[in-house]
Amino acid sequence: MTKKILITGGAGYIGSHTLLAAVGQGYDVAVIDNLSTGRREVIPTECAFYEVDLVDKPKVEQALKEFLPDTVIHFAGSIDVRESVENPIKYYANNTYASLALIEACVKHNVQRFIFSSTAAVYGNPDGGTVSETSPTFPINPYGHSKLMTEQILSDASKSHGFRYAILRYFNVAGADLRLKAAQPTPMATHLIKVACQTVLGLHPSIKIFGTDYETADGTCIRDFIHISDLARAHLNVLDYMTEYDASAVFNCGNGQGYSVKQILDAVQRVSGINFKIEHGSRRAGDPRSLIADTSCLRNKTGWVAQHEDIDEIVSSALAWERKILESASL
Ligand code: UDP
Repeated sequence: MTKKILITGGAGYIGSHTLLAAVGQGYDVAVIDNLSTGRREVIPTECAFYEVDLVDKPKVEQALKEFLPDTVIHFAGSIDVRESVENPIKYYANNTYASLALIEACVKHNVQRFIFSSTAAVYGNPDGGTVSETSPTFPINPYGHSKLMTEQILSDASKSHGFRYAILRYFNVAGADLRLKAAQPTPMATHLIKVACQTVLGLHPSIKIFGTDYETADGTCIRDFIHISDLARAHLNVLDYMTEYDASAVFNCGNGQGYSVKQILDAVQRVSGINFKIEHGSRRAGDPRSLIADTSCLRNKTGWVAQHEDIDEIVSSALAWERKILESASL
């Protein structure tokens, strides 16, 4: 049984939720985070914490030597599609280059399993319907490319160096676990549900829909939303699977249900009871029309089952989280 997990980016949004789940299941967990966006307060005091940048090889190696993890779960990276179009070098540096440095260190220190946060953006602009792990990968933005390159590095390195890897391709993640002690204020948020909740709370005068002329039923893009706690648990299911079968694999992480941007904004208005102002804007660079996961691989191989798939529940959790952020900022 796997005992020691090193989580990179454990002070960030998905990392901190996975950390919470892993500690809850009794794993011994350490965190590497440079705190560029994450919060120190979310890391339980019993977890070893290394405030280290992944490209700082001697310090990363020192952490590996000290903690001796058998599994690394790698979250640290940059996540904004639009920013990746505007500043691609940042994405290849923070996502591809930093991952390469980490993988190299893990090989050197005999880490047995490596779980990687990838993205549905690797699929580019699929034709429609759901995408499975074997669907073609043609990223249409530097973010997707930066993650797909890391997937390739892992696949090649694992063949030569004998470790096992799992690639988790996240669809759209939202919501929160209110047991977490701290949340990062995000004044420049770009993700749809987050921005919509902030608009409910009066942090923005309105929200803009980026494109109403897509070839979809209501003209807006379609995405598949997964609750953060379901996603966090998926990592531990995958780890069990890798350990039990001594296997590497790729997994889509979503709910298998598509919602349009308009449907999401309706849900946020319904759940909050606030009819905030919605504007129609032009398309955002790098956005695919529709991304919906075929999740059968995750469910069938690992036994994962969503516990919070209802979109109103996801939205309500996201709204509660934004309220908590606002309250803690005003203390
Ligand atoms: N979106 C929008 N207005 C916003 C933020 C997002 O219309 O203020 C749209 C965006 O164009 C995309 C969808 O919502 O079609 C999901 O975008 P998000 O940034 O949340 O996630 P992504 O799918 O890009 O990872």
